[in-house]
Amino acid sequence: MHHAVYQSAIIYIEDRLDTSLPRKQAVERLRKAANKGAYSCPECHRLLRVRDGERGLFFAHNPGEACELQESNATYSHQTKREAQHHSVLREMIHEVLKNQEKIRPSLSVEFGYIAKAGQKWSHLPDIVMSHKGVETAISVLTNVDRMKDQKLVKKLRERNAYFKNKGLDTLWFIDVQEQVIDEKTRAIYLWESELDLSSKTPQDEAWDKLLLDLSEDTNQLFSVMSYLSPSPFLPSIDTRSLFYIHSMSESIEFSVHRFIADQKIAPFQAFAVNEGYRMNISTALSLQENLALHHEEQEAKEHEHFRALYEKRLQMWKAEQEFLQAAAQAAAEAETIARAEAHARYEAELQVIYEKARNEQIAYGTSKPMSYNGLKELLKVHLKMTQPEQMLLWTTYVGRQGLINFDRLWELAQQVTSFSAFEELLRKEPRHTKR
Ligand SMILES: [Zn+2]
Repeated sequence: MHHAVYQSAIIYIEDRLDTSLPRKQAVERLRKAANKGAYSCPECHRLLRVRDGERGLFFAHNPGEACELQESNATYSHQTKREAQHHSVLREMIHEVLKNQEKIRPSLSVEFGYIAKAGQKWSHLPDIVMSHKGVETAISVLTNVDRMKDQKLVKKLRERNAYFKNKGLDTLWFIDVQEQVIDEKTRAIYLWESELDLSSKTPQDEAWDKLLLDLSEDTNQLFSVMSYLSPSPFLPSIDTRSLFYIHSMSESIEFSVHRFIADQKIAPFQAFAVNEGYRMNISTALSLQENLALHHEEQEAKEHEHFRALYEKRLQMWKAEQEFLQAAAQAAAEAETIARAEAHARYEAELQVIYEKARNEQIAYGTSKPMSYNGLKELLKVHLKMTQPEQMLLWTTYVGRQGLINFDRLWELAQQVTSFSAFEELLRKEPRHTKR
């Protein structure tokens, strides 16, 4: 194990090495101090020795004295084997900042997970267990994250997260990753599958929910105004969640908080970026009041203000666009009505011309000679709106077969009716004509 009690405080073995000495000498000095009884087990309080071998530098019980911490440590070591080398550095920094607050907050207790849960045979262990006012939180640091691959890790983390929750602990994850990139224009972010599980719901997220609902209760409008394109057929409800990323600096670490509304819950995991994400230093992020701060108050207020201003500015543009689209649609509908009316009027005028011409011909013929079939046809086209098939029917059935060849008589009949079918009824009753 890498921790021991030294002068009633828990120390990390690497921190006890005198860095002004060559490593070998520093280790030797540490070993001597251990042999004099400087370091004891946090669990059974027996004295520990210093061992340095293939597995690195660690504390060990004397042969035959191993306690339950040994087992817990084995589980934890196995679990953290996949982590990057700086994982332990991040863990120690977070532990130190939290631990320092124990002095001013008697309700707070902070312990490394494998020590806090030694003897309880847990199959997963958080890096740190923080207990405050009776609420336990499992704090875990995650390094070596490859967003694209690592389906196995996704499964393992889901299991681990559920395990802690089952044990009655709140969970808090700090993810050591590259900067999360959001598309400023469309506010879309893409999450790694596990991030949906590892996100938190903090009081600040609830404040964001309140702000968003205040701006618009309609998610559809909210997304539309913010130019966010949802890939899902069903829009999510307003439920802001947060993710905490960890960034290693040269001497310290910084945290950043990203807030989002999970949208597409199958790959690719798209979300609506509620904030742009901002950084804060470790003491701000981990300062404890009612809860761990995990936010920077001024930054948070600034982001609220920024979002509200952006929404209102875009809302003006959005409304103008909606109005423009509506006006355009109305203008198009009006134009179509006018075009239809004009076409109809042209059609009526054309009919009128044909009708006049046919009537004049008929009058002219009427006085001198009998009406021609052609003259009748033109008149019927106008008067009964006779179609080409009807014209063929008239020609073959009634003129040809029935012998109705007096076209002046047929025009007389046609003038008594207003449809071709009514005209046919009269034709069927009409006896064969003997002459034109
Ligand atoms: Zn022990």
